[in-house]
Amino acid sequence: MVFVRTTPPRPVQVTAVFPELAPLARPAIRLHPRPGSPSVRDSSVGGPLLWPAGEPWPHCEDVHLHVDTGFRESLTEVRLQRRLQSGWRPGDRPPAYTAEEAALKERAAAQLAERLDAGPPWPAECPVPLLPVAQLFLRDIPLLRPPGQADLLQVLWCPYEHEPDCKPATAVFWRSAAEVGDILAIPPEPYEADYPGYVPEPCVLAPETITEYPNSLDLSPELQRMLEDWNRWQAAGACVDSSYAQYPREFYSLHLGNAPGWKVGGWPPWGRTDPYPRHCAACGEQMVPLLTIASREWDGGEGRSWAPQEEQATALDGSRGRGQYPSQPTRVEVGSTDNMQIYVCPTAPEHPHTDLIQ
Ligand SMILES: [Zn+2]
Ligand SMILES: [Zn+2]
Repeated sequence: MVFVRTTPPRPVQVTAVFPELAPLARPAIRLHPRPGSPSVRDSSVGGPLLWPAGEPWPHCEDVHLHVDTGFRESLTEVRLQRRLQSGWRPGDRPPAYTAEEAALKERAAAQLAERLDAGPPWPAECPVPLLPVAQLFLRDIPLLRPPGQADLLQVLWCPYEHEPDCKPATAVFWRSAAEVGDILAIPPEPYEADYPGYVPEPCVLAPETITEYPNSLDLSPELQRMLEDWNRWQAAGACVDSSYAQYPREFYSLHLGNAPGWKVGGWPPWGRTDPYPRHCAACGEQMVPLLTIASREWDGGEGRSWAPQEEQATALDGSRGRGQYPSQPTRVEVGSTDNMQIYVCPTAPEHPHTDLIQ
């Protein structure tokens, strides 16, 4: 971990205005993934995994939707496109591939044509080798509660859409790093992905511990009404713009509740549906958020208040020049611009996990 990212102080200290929320404070670790070259020994998003050479690489055996989303692309093509974009500046001539890249692209296109020539239905490859999504070492993310002697969490997914909810299928592995001897040097890769947003860009992490409060939808009706009481905000002397007088709860949701972006623990984001508890299929325990896989590290407009202090200027710029996507460093996009939450059993993390798009 060589770099630091710091969430700016919240514009209002929430418990000073609403002491009732203090018992609901939860720690979370924002991961702050940024493009880089993580090694198998690093915590990462989309980086190489510390995977034992003697252990079969996980594959997805699901029946895949045999419908091309229209955005399906080979991983080669996704990466080439990104390479081109990253070197491009506004005003430059259109970027061009090197001869080597052009050959790669041609080969990928020929393979795709071959598959299409086979005629409908176009089966997705099966079984599909999974793609690394995140690798988190306990030493970097002390909030993790691994089972037994494990100190490493590895999350992978199948980059095709799966029912229900049309989302990648996730797999979660806990292991002890010390028990990994020979490392699998070249893991198999899926040939293509249903969306480029299912191919995480390799990122290094700058974990930061923060305190979160619930999404307003997670609060009781009484607490929700309390957030809507403008007099409470004023009586506490909170410096909140009067444009929020009609909807002060919005101010809470935007700036004070749960943080956007990739994170471990904390409170889950909601919005697609009302919150509903997730229960462990093995023991019935109410599950807790393990990892949030986010399409955005922060939103535009006032949502930029969550952009790290070190990057406020870039966040304000907001341009996509030079192929930079300040709020989308991982290039992951789930749902449209939603989040995928991974839940785990709090008493037995080895019990089957579950996931959810919100
Ligand atoms: Zn699959
Ligand atoms: Zn359980």
